[in-house]
Amino acid sequence: MLDAVEHSILVAMKTSSVPSNRRVSRRSPRALVCLALGALWISPLIGCGPDRVVYTGGPILTMNETEDVVEAIGIEGDRIAAVGSRAEVAEWAGGDARIVDLAGKAIVPGFVDAHGHFPGEGVYATVVDLNSPPIGHVETIDDLIELLRERAADTSAGEWVVGMSYDDTLIAEKRHPTRVDLDRVSTEHPVGIIHVSGHLAVANSMALERAGLDRNSEDPVGGVMQRGPDGELNGVLEENAMNFVQGKVLTPGPLEALSVIREGSRRAIAQGVTTVQNGFTPQSLITQLEWLVRFGLIEPRLVIWPGMEVADAVLAGETTLSEAAGPDVWVGAIKIVADGSIQGYTGYLSEPYHVPPGDDPDFRGYPRVPRDELRERVTRYHAAGMQVAVHGNGDASIEDILDAFEVAFEKHPREDARPIIIHAQMARPDQLDRMAALDVLPSFFSLHTFYWGDRHRRLFMGPERAARMSPAATALEKGVRFTIHCDAPVVPLEPLRLVWSAVNRRTRSGFIVGPDERISAMQALRAVTIDAAYSMFLDEELGSLEVGKLADLAILSASPLDDPSSIDRLRVVETIRGGESLYTLAD
Ligand SMILES: [Zn+2]
Repeated sequence: MLDAVEHSILVAMKTSSVPSNRRVSRRSPRALVCLALGALWISPLIGCGPDRVVYTGGPILTMNETEDVVEAIGIEGDRIAAVGSRAEVAEWAGGDARIVDLAGKAIVPGFVDAHGHFPGEGVYATVVDLNSPPIGHVETIDDLIELLRERAADTSAGEWVVGMSYDDTLIAEKRHPTRVDLDRVSTEHPVGIIHVSGHLAVANSMALERAGLDRNSEDPVGGVMQRGPDGELNGVLEENAMNFVQGKVLTPGPLEALSVIREGSRRAIAQGVTTVQNGFTPQSLITQLEWLVRFGLIEPRLVIWPGMEVADAVLAGETTLSEAAGPDVWVGAIKIVADGSIQGYTGYLSEPYHVPPGDDPDFRGYPRVPRDELRERVTRYHAAGMQVAVHGNGDASIEDILDAFEVAFEKHPREDARPIIIHAQMARPDQLDRMAALDVLPSFFSLHTFYWGDRHRRLFMGPERAARMSPAATALEKGVRFTIHCDAPVVPLEPLRLVWSAVNRRTRSGFIVGPDERISAMQALRAVTIDAAYSMFLDEELGSLEVGKLADLAILSASPLDDPSSIDRLRVVETIRGGESLYTLAD
């Protein structure tokens, strides 16, 4: 398997053709001369140090402890060497630095993805994009079937046809497609599609048959196979029941994997993201990602959060993760998924959904990992010295997670464990108090208010609870340090839109949902830079523009502090990682 991956990487490197506007050499003539001399081993003798560059002429948001905005920054090699006033940085630069005039553009630290699934959106290089507007084009079940049919026509019989990111609440029929709908795509291909939340899937008859599932099959623990009135599987698979479909998307063949990685990489860098994350990585993918990083095919830095099965294997001595550690790739927290998603009706709540999905008015969703198992796992991983990140959307799930953290920390006290609750969407004020006491970092999916805010009010949570979703301002008030994220590919990885959403909480219809939970632009920027780095133990190396840190930065068309209502309209003009320009906006 590895040989195949390695071989295909080498082939891809030979045939790789990155558009010229994506990759611009920013080395000065002097640096090029020195590089050439370096090949002769004599450059140190004639004063060829690393390339020095000064950026000045626009606001530079350092995101340091005191949130200083400065006039100039100096970079030497892959590190930041000077930060301060124009005069201070000029003094450092001496006479031989290249000076870049920002002409009013702004510099921020390269964005750090606090939670996502890199290569995330890269999957659209190989699977069918079933998003509805404004991201994609699917407005009816017929639209969805048509797109999948086109793919089936290009796919050999018997091979999988896979689609991602349909949203039942945004298509005209307001229901999930079923096995019968997907049989209209093809009866000669297994067909599987994944809901935009990533917590449900639908399979056609052939896919179910391949998985050996029929009306006599029992639901797995933490999952549901929906059935029609006749008891037959209708093809909709919730949570743990969908794993076999998800496996088809998460484990593409080696060549497909390369186009996925390149597309994911390209999209991240174009958004100013210099550190991405894969927040739930199976062992097979860890191995592939390690190789891709080694061959330089992943442009942003990468943080890997192994799935809990990997943690089990590590603790059983069956595998180690040490190989994945290096300057460009870090192995971080162990990821556990405790419940599902609110808009998939699988988030686990203490009070019923506003409009329940079926006949049960008391429907509250359900846990994906039983409470006792959650406690046992959190305790075991924490006791082994691992950082633990648990996905929890509903407040009942968040309660279970906090209880688990409390027990684990009491039994095995450890300084600076930085436990994370991913999403923490319906965290109540009393739960934020507990997070403050336990030093838990919630990571809010703050784009929910834009993409789903209207439906959270109307359908899932009702107006009162919807106003409290992703409660960033209350978290601040209670002294809880937090991050924000896009959970790409659930929604596109767009840090500027994410920051705008946390600052404005404007829904797609223009409604301001929960105005009391809006935060300042500076605070939202912290949550995608220094605080995101902190949550992954990377704050010593990156996340702010300070002397000695890695020179990862994004140049924006203007400062996000100028007009908080239009941060989403700012453009990323250039992305620099480790002092090297990886992307410039085409004119
Ligand atoms: Zn996620």
